[in-house]
Amino acid sequence: MAYKAPEIKIKTRGNKTTQYLTGLANAAGFLAEVEKIGKKGDLTDYSSFYFNLKGFGNLSKRYGHKEGDELIKRYAKVLRNNIQKGEVIGHLGEDNFIALIKKENRQSFIDFLSSVEVVATAGDNWESVWISAYIGIWDIEEEPSDMREVISRPSIALSQAKNITHETVVTVSDNMVTRTTENREILEVFHRAVENEEFIVYYQPKVDSRDKKLIGAEGLVRWKRDGKMVPPDKFIPPLEQTGEILLLDYYILQRVCFDIRKWQNAGLVPVRVSVNFSRKDLVDRDLAESIYSIITESGVDKDLIEIELTETIDDTEHGVLIDFINKLYNMGIRTAIDDFGAGYSSLSTLREFQVHTLKIDRSFINTEDFSWKDEVILSDIIHMADRLGIDVITEGVEREDQLAFVNNAGCHAIQGFFFDKPLPEEDFRKRLENKQY
Ligand code: C2E
Ligand code: CA
Ligand code: CA
Repeated sequence: MAYKAPEIKIKTRGNKTTQYLTGLANAAGFLAEVEKIGKKGDLTDYSSFYFNLKGFGNLSKRYGHKEGDELIKRYAKVLRNNIQKGEVIGHLGEDNFIALIKKENRQSFIDFLSSVEVVATAGDNWESVWISAYIGIWDIEEEPSDMREVISRPSIALSQAKNITHETVVTVSDNMVTRTTENREILEVFHRAVENEEFIVYYQPKVDSRDKKLIGAEGLVRWKRDGKMVPPDKFIPPLEQTGEILLLDYYILQRVCFDIRKWQNAGLVPVRVSVNFSRKDLVDRDLAESIYSIITESGVDKDLIEIELTETIDDTEHGVLIDFINKLYNMGIRTAIDDFGAGYSSLSTLREFQVHTLKIDRSFINTEDFSWKDEVILSDIIHMADRLGIDVITEGVEREDQLAFVNNAGCHAIQGFFFDKPLPEEDFRKRLENKQY
């Protein structure tokens, strides 16, 4: 589940300023101390830390819930003994802690948090466990106008650390804050935007470079927001973080099926359209079944759709991906491995997955001068795929020399600006009327 920073409550019942379990300052208590330092104008001497404990869920499982609480108490105690005069620590509940640390102690505090020894008891025995933390930091450079930033800013960095970069320590930047604010805003309006049909599909043609005929298209989502077109890299990442991308991907598949029916009803002969699904969608165990029902219920021939997914390095996810692709294969639904050659895709994919298509990533051709080595690698991949009965398409072809290069390597299915950009449906329809380039 995505990490969510706890709501910062300043008002608490009564005058309570301490966390009941550990006795450390709670948010209100912490902010009261911060306020005092702020009044003196000294906050810029500090960095604020927001951290939580790596693998705490597992510890809690191993030792039990009650002992988990004890571990937190002991951890808090070690923490209290390790801060310097003038510094402030707090406990926001569960395994979430905050600290205001003098800048000169910043690094030593990071080092300290990387391995805190705590005793755990199991029955009559006890043992040492070393707890490390995920850390978000804000190096305070200007007195904040709102004291709550001392908690919220490092929490943004922590969320980045846990969900995006998977680094242990992340320092917040202005950019991160802006993006987080934008992302929150996107998530707030997302459902309404779907209902208002603000998400639309653009179609990028795929062309056979030998006879210059239209052979297919990729459906690419666009968000028409207040008259402006928002590109997917703005809104897909936050939707992926919360899992809401699934709703959008189903919606886009439905739209594509709808458009194909529309073209057929208008007497046009459609081409196969590929639709992107995020790897995050794999958490839905019924993904393959749902895709199958959307296509069959729309009345579109299964052969006119192809599902695109990217590879992964995560072993568990890899297994889920294999099952998913093989399930679709058995249902007669085509799949493509997207961005092949970029990131984590590997040749073993060809052996393990019953895929129909490999989409060669544009990083393969994104160089000024192609070396003979590039060509050997690419032509080997293409040759191998060919012998295994897997189609190959190269994307991102923009220039004549790139086209010549991939043609030489044996690939003739092309998607890229060289032939066409992603087009609104009305324009793509014209390509269907005359499939010749
Ligand atoms: P992608 O799946 O790799 O899609 C290809 C991207 O390359 C598209 O960007 C396309 O406009 C761009 N492109 C095509 N030809 C060229 C070229 O010749 N040169 C260059 N420089 N770029 C070219 P777009 O539409 O901005 O989409 C970006 C990414 O967003 C997609 O990359 C895909 O990962 C994601 N995406 C788009 N639509 C969906 C969707 O419906 N669902 C999901 N989950 N992801 C989507
Ligand atoms: Ca794609
Ligand atoms: Ca791609």
